[in-house]
Amino acid sequence: MNQEPVNSDRFPFLNVGFLQSRLSWSIHLRYIAAGGFFLGTILTKHLFNLHVPFSKIWMVLAFLVFLNTLYYIILKLFKDISLSNEIIFLHFQIIIDLTLLTILLHYSGSIDNPIFFFYAFHVVISSILFSKVVALLYSTFVVVQFTALIFFEYTGVIPHYPLYRESFYNNPLYIYLLLAVFIITVYVTAYICTTLMHLYRESKRKIDHLNEQLIEADRVKSNFFRFTSHELKSPIISIKTSIDGILGKFRDELDARAVDLLYRASLRAEQMLNILKELLELSRNRSFSKDESKGLEKVDVTHILKRVVAQETENAEQKSITINSSIHGLVPLIQGRNEDFEKIFRNLINNAIRYTPKGGSINIFAEYASFNFNIRIEDTGIGIADKDQQKIFDEFYRSENAKKIEKFGTGLGLSLVKQLVENYGGSIRVESALNKGTKFFIIIPVKVH
Ligand code: ADP
Repeated sequence: MNQEPVNSDRFPFLNVGFLQSRLSWSIHLRYIAAGGFFLGTILTKHLFNLHVPFSKIWMVLAFLVFLNTLYYIILKLFKDISLSNEIIFLHFQIIIDLTLLTILLHYSGSIDNPIFFFYAFHVVISSILFSKVVALLYSTFVVVQFTALIFFEYTGVIPHYPLYRESFYNNPLYIYLLLAVFIITVYVTAYICTTLMHLYRESKRKIDHLNEQLIEADRVKSNFFRFTSHELKSPIISIKTSIDGILGKFRDELDARAVDLLYRASLRAEQMLNILKELLELSRNRSFSKDESKGLEKVDVTHILKRVVAQETENAEQKSITINSSIHGLVPLIQGRNEDFEKIFRNLINNAIRYTPKGGSINIFAEYASFNFNIRIEDTGIGIADKDQQKIFDEFYRSENAKKIEKFGTGLGLSLVKQLVENYGGSIRVESALNKGTKFFIIIPVKVH
């Protein structure tokens, strides 16, 4: 569907998609209005002894339903219609609606019938959708139609179908008062609606602009992060290599305290490298997430999952943790990047091993159902307190019980997983109970071509 945005002042925030949804909404509304009007006439016909030409009213209603069905078909058939044609289509519908309303009013008592209030709907709708000038033109169109109807009935050019025994259609004072109030109401309504819409559009434009600035600032921040992390990596690698070199070659010549200090320094340098690596990953995903076409391939996710499980099994065995995995259904290839899925699975399985005490178990279920790839990774570990469950996806957040069992950690892994899953249009959630275990659920939509 053509989503061309419109930046002109005439339709400051519309696009074809928006307009199409308005059009189909108005089609539904029109069916309801025609049905309601029909029921109204049936009720009044049986409750009151009226002498209005019901058959003519029903013919107009039938014509309206026929037209509306035609609109519906056109809307379904021409999905790629251009914005300017959509707008013409919309104007056409409003003009026909107003004209049919005037005809219905004529057959059902005109000035006697309070349904002339319904003109207000069109005034409001046109003031919301169009500019001040167009709204003013529609208001004038409404005023002219209603005044002409009353005038021609008053002068006898067209017949008047009275609703009540005492009709006001030839009472000049009543006509004068009614028209004055009607005209004021129409123009004031249009003025209020267009002014409010103008304010709304202005604020929306400002918010959009600020939003764009925020996105840009975030991109600059991510780039800065990337640059700094990258620049810091090399000196830290050199420091670590030097320390490891000293420990390798001169360990025997050093006293035990120095060796201990150097070991700690090496460990800290490794931690720092891990943080930098994950920061780099996070900022890389932020700045590139919009560039969807970059390096995409057909990914066999189940194959990656099996590979990661096999690789992590060794880790788990060292802690006497058993990993069971079962994969159901044939998952179609997903358009994406191998390394993204590898990171998702590795982070979650690795966490499950790290936060599960010795002798525990990890179960992994994966299935393809209803165009979704669903994965559940559950462990019998330390669990996550209710108050922490939302925070664990924040950057650098680590829960207290996790810090006790695993001293080292960056608190960046889950933010990265969440970001990657969301880049694929998916979602992640957690269910957990302290000291009982944790379940992570991931849903990734699969587009089948
Ligand atoms: P890290 O594991 O390096 O601390 P993560 O972003 O991967 O960083 O995880 C954030 C926090 O979420 C962890 O510190 C821990 O508190 C919690 N967490 C993640 N996975 C589990 C798990 N399987 N069991 C218990 N807590 C978990």
